[in-house]
Amino acid sequence: MSGWESRSKLTQIKVAEAHFVYGPVREQERLMKLTARKTILTARRDAIHADLAMIRHELEASQPQSISGEHGAVIHALGQAGQAELEQIESALQRIAGGDYGVCTCCGAVIPAERLDSLPDILTCTGCQSRGLS
Ligand SMILES: [Zn+2]
Repeated sequence: MSGWESRSKLTQIKVAEAHFVYGPVREQERLMKLTARKTILTARRDAIHADLAMIRHELEASQPQSISGEHGAVIHALGQAGQAELEQIESALQRIAGGDYGVCTCCGAVIPAERLDSLPDILTCTGCQSRGLS
C-alpha cells in the first residue's frame, strides 16, 4: 500500500493508536461515519462552487461602476470566504482519500469525533486551533 508508506511516521502511529482505542468492532462504524462526512463535504463543496459561479457571474454581468462601494465589497468578501472554505474542504477530502482524516495536521493528535461531527472540514485539534497554529 503506497498510501500508507507515504504517510509520516507520526501519522501512522496516531492512526494505529486510533484503531487501538476504537477497536476493530468500531472500525465499520468509523468507515460509515467517514463516508457520511465525505458526502457532507462533497455536497458543501458543490454548493460553494455554485455560489462562487453566481458571484463571478454577478461581477462579470455588472458594469464596473455599479458593483463598487459596499455592495462590491460584500460580493468580494463572499467570494474570498467561499474560496477559503473551498480550499479547507478540498484538504479534508484529500485527507479522507489518503486515510489520515481526523488527525490534527499540526500536532498529529486524533481529533475527537464530536468535533468532526460539528466541523467536518476541520483540520486541527482544539488545542492547536486555540493557539492559532491552524
Ligand atoms: Zn493539534
